[in-house]
Amino acid sequence: MESALQDYLWEVSPSRNETCYVDNGNDISRPCGQGRIPVYSAAVTSVDQAQKAVRFANRRNLSLVIRNTGHSVGGQSSGPDSFQIFTQAFKDITFTDDFVPDGGSLSEGQAVTVGAGVLVGELCDAAAMRRQVVVTGQYLSVGVAGGLVQGGGLSPALSPLKGLIADLALQFEVVTADGRYVVANQYKNTDLFWALRGGGGGTFGLVMSTTMRTFLDIPSVVSQISFNTSDLDERYWSAVREVAHTTRELTTNNYTDSSAVWFISRAANGTPSMALTAYFMNKTEVVVADNLFAELLVTLRAKRLAVQYNSTPYPWLSSFLAMQVASSGSPRRTDAYETNVIVPEELYHSPDRLDRFLDRVRQLPFNPLNRIDVDFLGGQVSANGELVDTALHPAWRSASIQLRHIMYVGQGIQEQQAALNRLRNVIWPLLRSIKPSPRASYLNLADPTLEDWQGWFWGDKYPRLLKIKKKWDPDDLFIVRQGVGSEMWDEEGLCRRSVRKS
Ligand SMILES: Cc1cc2nc3c(=O)[nH]c(=O)nc-3n(C[C@H](O)[C@H](O)[C@H](O)COP(=O)(O)OP(=O)(O)OC[C@H]3O[C@@H](n4cnc5c(N)ncnc54)[C@H](O)[C@@H]3O)c2cc1C
Repeated sequence: MESALQDYLWEVSPSRNETCYVDNGNDISRPCGQGRIPVYSAAVTSVDQAQKAVRFANRRNLSLVIRNTGHSVGGQSSGPDSFQIFTQAFKDITFTDDFVPDGGSLSEGQAVTVGAGVLVGELCDAAAMRRQVVVTGQYLSVGVAGGLVQGGGLSPALSPLKGLIADLALQFEVVTADGRYVVANQYKNTDLFWALRGGGGGTFGLVMSTTMRTFLDIPSVVSQISFNTSDLDERYWSAVREVAHTTRELTTNNYTDSSAVWFISRAANGTPSMALTAYFMNKTEVVVADNLFAELLVTLRAKRLAVQYNSTPYPWLSSFLAMQVASSGSPRRTDAYETNVIVPEELYHSPDRLDRFLDRVRQLPFNPLNRIDVDFLGGQVSANGELVDTALHPAWRSASIQLRHIMYVGQGIQEQQAALNRLRNVIWPLLRSIKPSPRASYLNLADPTLEDWQGWFWGDKYPRLLKIKKKWDPDDLFIVRQGVGSEMWDEEGLCRRSVRKS
């Protein structure tokens, strides 16, 4: 279905009181509203058609949205009364050992070019068949060339080792607002290239393909530790603390080539749980993980927690990546509002700082159907600050982790509004007051009501982004919520603010 989204929260329109929930056994005979679902969709199948669709939208002054998977967490791939360009038909995946960017003469080495409609799962499968590693997000169903790479792109498994996904982009082929088809890379249209690496999806043009670096396959060990318990009590929080301190060791001294992600969550019945996944690259024996986690497991079991532990060696990392996305990427909807902060590297400078941080995490609302995630940064994400010039907020380059708060929300506009108020008035103020003080937030997983989003997403890079936006899209054809230049428009990108005021 071209127009349906991964998340029904962005299909409805609270301001118009329009909903149309067609799943969960709802009575679909009730009058239904169009909400934020586009009114028309051009399911383009060639570059020529894409150019025609863009020119058509420009000529007719339509509210245009680009949609690949509809996974946008902030409602950027839908909009009321809009005309949609749907990109799922572009499924080409081409690997090369010697990628020479258009206009250059030097090879960048091995790379893959993916069409606008390719999903993470499809790319990981193709890479595994060639024994190559691609850096992507964790879920099968997210697209590669759209919001993921253009918003920055964080791979929980690989970013600390290889960088953010935008860091690895080598070239984009783009239909611009005037309908031209151009290449953007380090030789051609360099300003557009810079903006597309972190400046946000749906903002600078319609990307038809992206070329990104790939890596040689390596062996790896993947470990998982999880537990749940009946009560949200001191025993639970002290166990969380133990896990957090052990994972800190992964990024300090002893363990190179490793990364991790952990989260705490509460089920609908209130049961709290915790899960950690740790990755040890270039390792063939599980002993490395067994040694690191031995003391932790003893401590957790002494707390009489039912702990599951498993470490598995994978001869090829690519086969794990293809499998993990398949297992984690069920097509179920998430229906969540979320928000996040990028936490500075000082967090890991001493165990005390981590303790104080965890005390603040405990103050965050942690109700049934809430989840709090920690993804590792640092490593190559930091090192790339000196090596790659992108539009990403500079704070990514001196960060330890991304901290995310996720709230699953049921159907109904009132419930939705109440959740947004909680996000804005309770969760966000607590997140931003975490110590060490965050300066950035990841735009792809951000609070959709965030104020000063320009500063939180891009910092001092925003003026340059705005200049590039004005050059490539002078008539504001590509306007998305919280996107570069959207402050000139109302919340849904339908009316220019200056026009409305006069
Ligand atoms: C289940 C789930 C898992 C996720 N996991 C991760 C993760 O591991 N790492 C991570 O970094 N993020 C993750 N995200 C966030 C994800 O990166 C963003 O939601 C991203 O915007 C999705 O991009 P998309 O193209 O698939 O989605 P869409 O909703 O189709 O598009 C998102 C944005 O990109 C624009 N866009 C899409 N295609 C194009 C194109 N061809 N040209 C120009 N603009 C385009 C759209 O207009 C919109 O603004 C996850 C999100 C979900 C819902």
